[in-house]
Amino acid sequence: MTNEEKRFLEHRPVNCEECGGKMFYQVDGVYQCTDCGHIELDDFGKIKEYLAKNDGASMVEIASATGVEMNIIRMFLEDGRIQIPKGSKLFISCKRCGCALRSGRYCEDCIRELGNDLKDAFAEAPGQKAEPARIPRSSNNRMRYFN
Ligand SMILES: [Zn+2]
Ligand SMILES: [Zn+2]
Repeated sequence: MTNEEKRFLEHRPVNCEECGGKMFYQVDGVYQCTDCGHIELDDFGKIKEYLAKNDGASMVEIASATGVEMNIIRMFLEDGRIQIPKGSKLFISCKRCGCALRSGRYCEDCIRELGNDLKDAFAEAPGQKAEPARIPRSSNNRMRYFN
């Protein structure tokens, strides 16, 4: 995704709603007009502000309160710019093994395994992790080796 596409997706303000002046990025999705000092937030700023007051809010709550689309919120999660708080039932899944993540695209295990190949992995479709065949653990010790 290009910066231009992201700028559009995240509704980053370019011109001041009040006076039409140029908006400059301050911090954490907050923009201020260079002419009149009017402050506007982009989607990231809105989420950040909402989460500061509503720690642990679900994706649906964030979306309805801020008006930011769910797929944009998901994009911020995958970028690691916002994180699903501890204790939340909501998760996104690792693009490689499908395990539950609070932010990012890959879990720690996959990143470690992918190592330097990580760049290639971004171009690939999400991999499917096969469940390892497990020998059921015997609770009554019936399994034994005989010579
Ligand atoms: Zn202005
Ligand atoms: Zn994984």
